Amino acid sequence: MTSMYHSTRNADACVSAKRAVLNGLASDGGLYVTDALGETKIDLERVVTNTYRENAAYILGTLLDDYSAEEIESCVKAAYKGTFETDDVAPVVKVGDAFVLELFRGPTSAFKDVALQMLPQLMSRAAQGAGEKIMILAATSGDTGKAALAGFANTPRLGITVFYPHNGTSEIQRLQMVTQAGDNVAVAAVEGNFDDTQSAVKRIFGDEALRERLAAQNTVLSSANSINIGRLAPQVVYYFDAYAQLVRAGEIACGDAVEFCVPTGNFGDVLAGYFAKRMGLPVGKLIVASNCNNVLSDFLTEGVYDRNREFFKTISPSMDILISSNLERLLYYASDGAAGFVAGLMDDLAKTGRYQVPDEVLARIQE
Ligand SMILES: *Cc1c(COP(=O)(O)O)cnc(C)c1O
Repeated sequence: MTSMYHSTRNADACVSAKRAVLNGLASDGGLYVTDALGETKIDLERVVTNTYRENAAYILGTLLDDYSAEEIESCVKAAYKGTFETDDVAPVVKVGDAFVLELFRGPTSAFKDVALQMLPQLMSRAAQGAGEKIMILAATSGDTGKAALAGFANTPRLGITVFYPHNGTSEIQRLQMVTQAGDNVAVAAVEGNFDDTQSAVKRIFGDEALRERLAAQNTVLSSANSINIGRLAPQVVYYFDAYAQLVRAGEIACGDAVEFCVPTGNFGDVLAGYFAKRMGLPVGKLIVASNCNNVLSDFLTEGVYDRNREFFKTISPSMDILISSNLERLLYYASDGAAGFVAGLMDDLAKTGRYQVPDEVLARIQE
C-alpha cells in the first residue's frame, strides 16, 4: 500500500510522498499529512538490533513508501555515511539521571543537519523522476543557512541560494556560510534585518514573471524549511534510534515507555516525536520546552493560540517563533483529520492572530 499525502486543510487532493517532498507546501497553504500514519507499526525488536543507517532506511521507507528500497538506501548512504562525527549519527549520553541525545555531531554542528543532510537526497531522487530542476531559496537568521548549504551542495538537479541579514547573524555563522564550497551554492547578504530578508525571499517566490522564465528551463523554486515532509521524516528516525540505544545500554527494557523533552520553535522536532509515538514507539509524554516566547506553552495549557504578544529576542533565536507552523499537523491528527476545522483555525490565525480549540481537542493534545 502506498501512503498518499494531502493538505491539512483539504483531504480531497492526494499526492505521492515524492510530490509532497517536491512541493513542500500544499497549494492551499496547508501542510502535507498522510492518513496512513501509524497504520504500519515499526517493529521495535528490529529497531533495537539495527544500526542508525538501517533504522533510517526502515523508518523512511515506511513513511515515504513510494521511494524504492534502492532509492532510500542510496539517500541514507549519501546523507549519513561519513558525514557525521560517528556512524551512530546521534549518540545518547547519560547526564545525571537524564539522557541527552547529541544531535550536534553533523557537518555544521547544528541539530538541523540530521534532517538537512537527508532532504536534498529525497528531493534529488524525486526531481529526477519528475524531470525537474530545483532552486532552493532560504532566508536564515543563522543556523538553518549553513546546514542547508552543506546539505544541498553538489546534489544533482538542485541548487541553493541563502539570504541572510547583513550584520544579523553571528560572525561564526556568517563565516560558515560564505566559505561553503560547491558549484551549485550561493550566499547573499541583505541590507536589513531578518524580517526584511524573509520578505525579500517571499517576493521572489511570488514573482510570476520569474516563475515563467524558470519554468521554460524546467526549473522550479522551492524551500528547505521544516514544513517539508522530507525534513520531518528523517527526524522520526532518531526517536526510535535513541530508544534502541537505551535498550542496548540496559537502561530500559524493550517496551518500557520513555519521555522526551524537546526545545521547540517551529514544532518540527517535537512533532517528529509524536509521529514516532503513532508509529509504535512507547512514548509516555512529549515535553514541549519553550523560552520566554511561550506561545506554545500557553496553547498547551489553555487551548488558546495567541500570537498577539511581545516578541523577545533571546540567545536561542531558533526558538524565537510566534507562529509554530508544524503545530498545524498536530491539530489535524488531534481532530481526527478534520481538515475543514483546521482550515478554519488557520483562517482565524491569519485574520486575528489567534484561535481557540474545543476542550475535547485540547484534552487529546494534552494526553
Ligand atoms: C531549529 C532549532 C530549534 C527548534 O526546532 P523546531 O523543530 O523548529 O521546533 C531549537 N533549537 C535549535 C538550536 C534549533 O536549531
